[in-house]
Amino acid sequence: MTTCKVVDESLEAEHAALLSFMYLSPIGILRSTLSGEVDMLNPLSVQLLMPLAGPGGVTNVFDSLSNVAPELRNLVSSFKAERGSVCEGHRIVLTPARERSTVLSCNILKVNDCTLMTTLTDISRQVEAERWARQNESWLAGIYTNVNDFAFLTLDASGRVDSWNTSIEQLTGYAEVDVMGQTLEQFYAPDDVDDYRCPEHIALTREEGWHVQECWCQKKDGRRYAAQILVAILREDDGEFAGYSVVLRDVSERKITSDELTRLLTTDYLTGAMNRAHFFKLADKEVERSKRSGKPLSFVMIDADHFKRVNDTAGHQAGDKVLTQIVLEARRSLRSIDVIARLGGEEFCLMLPATAADGAMLIAERIRATIEALRIETEAGQLAITVSLGCASLTNEIASVQDLLAVADKALYTAKDTGRNRVEG
Ligand code: GH3
Ligand code: MG
Ligand code: MG
Repeated sequence: MTTCKVVDESLEAEHAALLSFMYLSPIGILRSTLSGEVDMLNPLSVQLLMPLAGPGGVTNVFDSLSNVAPELRNLVSSFKAERGSVCEGHRIVLTPARERSTVLSCNILKVNDCTLMTTLTDISRQVEAERWARQNESWLAGIYTNVNDFAFLTLDASGRVDSWNTSIEQLTGYAEVDVMGQTLEQFYAPDDVDDYRCPEHIALTREEGWHVQECWCQKKDGRRYAAQILVAILREDDGEFAGYSVVLRDVSERKITSDELTRLLTTDYLTGAMNRAHFFKLADKEVERSKRSGKPLSFVMIDADHFKRVNDTAGHQAGDKVLTQIVLEARRSLRSIDVIARLGGEEFCLMLPATAADGAMLIAERIRATIEALRIETEAGQLAITVSLGCASLTNEIASVQDLLAVADKALYTAKDTGRNRVEG
């Protein structure tokens, strides 16, 4: 008697524990007959199945799921073993929606020849995560193989190419033998590259983790294309710096459509020099860049001498031609990274990156001399013109665009005061 009571008590306790487990379980659990008649289910099952079950409630699990998982009944009836797993992780999509759907994972266990235990788990989040992972994977796969205007390569710690995918040949025309061991400079168009473009790209990548540059590149056969080059830090599994990964993209089409707009917004309509607004935007950036890199930066102000006289004697149109010629002539002495901007009527400013005071004086003198030698054909006859120039360079004291312009302007007026057709710095 006593023994039996102990057994009863321990069974009761076990039963209570099971009920409380089922009640609190984060998984829907239900017990049914082989034909799906439910005799026990926990609150989460009710919650998961109620929207499907209709007004009668969850009485038969297969009826409740018949719209979304009609196959379950067949799975059970075709399971001939006395006990065992009828299905495991069977996915049931409850609300097929474009954005997000509720997905259940279903396990059915045949306990004996008349009882099924079914568990239901909401795996919507997991499915969502898987979808994202698949999307990322196919995006990466696209870069590697399908998208023609991408090339992918890696650089070693010293910035030299150490691996590449075949699309680089398609994009650049260079074969493996041309590319391995080279720096990114290999891909730049020679007229758009200078000594510090590539090192700067790498330096900014080291500072910021990744960096994108837009520039002109050139294919092996000499054809130019507008490119976007993304460089990102590559790390070993233990976080150790291992080199760089690079995505090289041909963006020519985009460049062509936006080129005209860019030109209109940034250049002076008469002379083709950079306009004032764009110059100030660029100049601020250039000053910051020079400070960061410790490279010199110089400005040169140029003002046509006695220009009023040109207008007065030869006419305004001839004056216009002279201004255009001054810009053309000055450009001959400049590198592609230098800027010439029209700041006012007959006043121009040069911005010379990576150029110290002595270099700026040399360039200014060269421009002065070539303009002095110039003979400009106009409707009013051949004209000669001279310019005065004032130079300024970035220092600890001359530290902003405003400072540089003020100092260059002061030098320019010294040149005017001391006879014109001169360079002062
Ligand atoms: P200085 O040697 O002292 O610089 O004498 P300047 O005559 O060059 O200087 P000033 O500032 O007295 O005259 C500048 C002239 O430039 C006056 C203006 O009519 C003319 N000018 C300004 N913009 C244009 C333009 O777009 N086209 C033409 N043709 N002339 C212009
Ligand atoms: Mg003048
Ligand atoms: Mg002037």
